[in-house]
Amino acid sequence: MSVAPPVAASATASHRRAVRSFIPISIAAARCKGCGLCVAACTKGALELDEGRVNALGYHPVRLTDPSACSSCAICARVCPDAVFTVYAPPKGGDR
Ligand code: SF4
Ligand code: SF4
Repeated sequence: MSVAPPVAASATASHRRAVRSFIPISIAAARCKGCGLCVAACTKGALELDEGRVNALGYHPVRLTDPSACSSCAICARVCPDAVFTVYAPPKGGDR
């Protein structure tokens, strides 16, 4: 007799993978003016200006340094004058 794995157990593993791979914000780097307001406002220290890149506007665009540090608080989106950020709610059951 074979025994199938419990559905709840595999759903939990799948959910854990989703939480691990969750990217909490998307950044429209082409619109970024590199003003640094969001970097200063992020209380998690999860943003920095990417000095290795220059966008079409001629600025170093912001980048997310550590997705696991981001709490999806959306402060960055509120202070950005150029609507660069889209912030996503974390998956249910995550610890953010
Ligand atoms: S959503 Fe909050 S924690 Fe995440 S990058 Fe923006 S300001 Fe920082
Ligand atoms: S506040 Fe907006 S324009 Fe300024 S660095 Fe951050 S993303 Fe770029």
